[in-house]
Amino acid sequence: MRYPRHTTLELTAKCNFRCPYCYCVWHEYPALAKPELNTDGWKAVIDKCAEDGVEDILFTGGEALLRDDLFAIIDHARRAMPKCQLSLFTNASRLTEPLIAKFKRRRVSLATSLQGLRTYGEMTGTRRSYRHLLAVLARAAEMKWPIAVSMTITRANMEEAADMFAAAALSGAKSIQLGPMMLGGRAAARNDLMITREEWAAVKERIRALPDGRVPYTFCDEFICECRADTPRDLLAKWADPSHKPCPAGKSFGVIGPNGLYRTCLHSLPR
Ligand code: SF4
Repeated sequence: MRYPRHTTLELTAKCNFRCPYCYCVWHEYPALAKPELNTDGWKAVIDKCAEDGVEDILFTGGEALLRDDLFAIIDHARRAMPKCQLSLFTNASRLTEPLIAKFKRRRVSLATSLQGLRTYGEMTGTRRSYRHLLAVLARAAEMKWPIAVSMTITRANMEEAADMFAAAALSGAKSIQLGPMMLGGRAAARNDLMITREEWAAVKERIRALPDGRVPYTFCDEFICECRADTPRDLLAKWADPSHKPCPAGKSFGVIGPNGLYRTCLHSLPR
């Protein structure tokens, strides 16, 4: 098969966070993460991306910065695909000023997530504070390599969603994307954290009412991956969007999992 124009490489299933909302499918199907491709395996995937004319690659995980060979993989991609847009999604726990400079030199855009302020520890399954992340955002902005920020809204953090948005914007986020927690991955066992469509609409209203921070932002309205055949019918009935249009997964974008298997999106399973 031919890889789509926008291809995500899930370089590892390892992660130093335990976010309860984590959508990574190997939390439900551990076999999808095994065996993890080695450096040569990822280089071969990148060579195929080059052959297939992939236009942009997003490196993610798990936490991609846990791979010792991350820059070997990225440098291979840059050599094989000089014009390709490269990005890295990271939880930013290991992101430092020298690393930001390395990514900037290689023209690798950065993205991260801010999952709470008061609730940051609960939302990442760690004892960490949001302060490191905001400091990284601010330093990256000063270095003229600002970081895009995403936020997953749950029952735990929805009351502080507007504060999270303001904190990211004031810290120099390049852009902000917000969406409700999606059922799937580790989140499949945390139905209790899902917000309702009405609560999501209220969060969006609060964000829209904020003073214009000149930060571009988007909302993602999905609550469930409707492509998955294994979703219990009662959950599908509860969370599916009646106005849902067939999504473009597998047409313009796709995902290569930690073991090299292709899926149509981050939330889907191999066919
Ligand atoms: S959402 Fe990201 S940071 Fe959180 S556990 Fe999953 S892979 Fe790790």
